[in-house]
Parts: sequence; structure tokens; C-alpha cells
Amino acid sequence: MTIIDGKKVSASVKEQVAEETKALKEKGIVPGLAVILVGDDPASRVYVNNKKKACELVGFKSEEFKLPAETTQDELLSLVDELNNRPDINGILCQLPLPKGLDENAVIEAISPLKDVDAFHKQNVGRIMIGDYDFLPCTPAGIMEMLKAYDISVDGKNCVVIGRSNIVGKPMAMLLLHQNGTVTICHSHTKNLSKITKNADILVAAVGVAKFVKADMVGEGAVVIDVGMNRDENGKLCGDVDFDNVKDKCSYITPVPGGVGPMTIATLMKNTLKAAKLQAGIE
Ligand code: NAP
Repeated sequence: MTIIDGKKVSASVKEQVAEETKALKEKGIVPGLAVILVGDDPASRVYVNNKKKACELVGFKSEEFKLPAETTQDELLSLVDELNNRPDINGILCQLPLPKGLDENAVIEAISPLKDVDAFHKQNVGRIMIGDYDFLPCTPAGIMEMLKAYDISVDGKNCVVIGRSNIVGKPMAMLLLHQNGTVTICHSHTKNLSKITKNADILVAAVGVAKFVKADMVGEGAVVIDVGMNRDENGKLCGDVDFDNVKDKCSYITPVPGGVGPMTIATLMKNTLKAAKLQAGIE
């Protein structure tokens, strides 16, 4: 059994981004990422800080817009509009979830598709569906990168994704399909879940329930990718997979923390670099 080291793979992705950023700077281009955080959700705060740190590491300019929870939809949309028009900002990200009363979809649709480094805008989602895209959503693309780094082929494999969110589950299934996986998507209405997951060569858990995937749900030799970021009964960060009991059945498994999470941020850096290049007419 091999524990996939997301920190290591993400470090090498960021190193590559940093090198390319250095070369871009010589041409007078500094990639810029704007991160909008509305309200004071502690988990969002941590994610935003990590994104800021990654920007510093790779040499991007990053700007954080911390807005109070009482921000109105109009105020938020006018900030997005201002950032869409700023040439020094190449990528715009609005940290989700937004406080109650704000319309997430409207905010996503307001972000220019050219600066949509999360790849949540419906124009970018549609482009991913047909396989002609500039940006891929950070978490699923990070997972594909991690599989590649460990020479894990998807071609012809039975891939099972638990979860069908627009952010993780659905695009994950699509990227696995692009790599010729035979993909099953499971969700809360799925019957006989264990029977399906046990047959998976590659199992991706994006459920949001601590230690949801138990040993009896996993087949011998499976590759298990844990997207979950939950707190266990002691408040400790844990994934959607019952790691200690599942790991010995796997050929590969990602830990939480140190698995998918760092890859998500590394992919965000890749997307922002690409946005800067596209906007400069380089790519
Ligand atoms: P989400 O929007 O809440 O979606 C959860 C999915 O799990 C839904 O499709 C839901 O089915 C399904 N589900 C819930 N209970 C189930 C059950 N008993 N059996 C089968 N399926 C079930 O969550 P998300 O945004 O995709 O995120 C999932 C997890 O990943 C969370 O822990 C989140 O914090 C984490 N996450 C991590 C990263 C990272 O970078 N590591 C990035 C994003 C998210 P229905 O559709 O039928 O309700």
C-alpha cells in the first residue's frame, strides 16, 4: 500500500508555476489573483490564508477582499465588476459558501469566464463537458495530476465517485471519463452503495461525512482518493474515508490532511498562471 503524498506532488507543481512566473516577470507580467471572502466562516478563513501563502510562494500578486457578512448582493457584484475590469487581476475567486441571503450562482456568473480560475462559470463548465477548455476545476484537476504523478492509469478502469456536487463530484466524473475510465456516480439516493463501491478500481469519496467509507465498502487493491475535509468527534481534521481501517485494503490511498487539499491549491496556482498568459496573449 502506498500513501499518496499530495504535499510532495503539489510542491513540484508549485515549483513549476514559480519557474514560469519568473520567466513571465521578465516580460513585465505578474499574475494577480483576487480572493473575495464574505463573512467570517473559520474554515473559509483557513482556505483563503493557504491560497494567499501559495500565491506568495509562486511569486503572484494576491489581493484579498474581506467583506462583512452583511454585504449586499449589489455590493458584492459591483466588486466583481471592478475586478473584472482591472488589468492587474488575472484570476478572481469568491470563497464559497457565501453567507445566507447571497446568491452564489449570480456571483459565479458575474465573474468573467476569462478570470474564472475556479472554473465554476457555466461557460467554463460547458467547455469542460465537451473537452475544449482553458481551466479545470481545482480539486478534480488536482486529483488527476496526483494520479498521473503516481503512474495510476484511469484507462478502462472502474471508477466510482461518491458525490455529485458541481464543485467536486460531477467534474471529477467528467475528468475520469475524459481519461477513458468507466465511471459511476453515486449520491444519497444510490441503492446498494457498498456493492458499487466494492467494484471500484478507483474510488473517489466527496461526501462531506467524516469516515463515511468503511473497509467493507472497498475492494482489495483499490485506489482510494479522499476529498473530504471534516472534523471528527474530537475536532480533528479527517476525511470521508475511515483511513486507519481502509488503508490496508488499498493499493494507493490519499491521507487527510496532506492529500487532495494541497493539490487543490496547486491547481489554482496553475489556473491563475494560465489566465495571466491567456490575458497577455501568450497562450
Ligand atoms: P456537497 O456539495 O455537500 O456534496 C456531497 C455529495 O455527497 C452530494 O452529492 C450528496 O448526495 C452525497 N452524499 C451525501 N450523503 C451521502 C450518502 N449517505 N450516500 C451517498 N452519497 C451521499 O459537498 P462537496 O462540496 O462536493 O464536498 C465534499 C467534501 O469534500 C466535503 O467534505 C468538503 O469539505 C470537501 N472538499 C474538499 C476540497 C479539498 O480541496 N480537499 C475541496 C472541495 C470540497 P446528494 O447530491 O444526493 O445530496
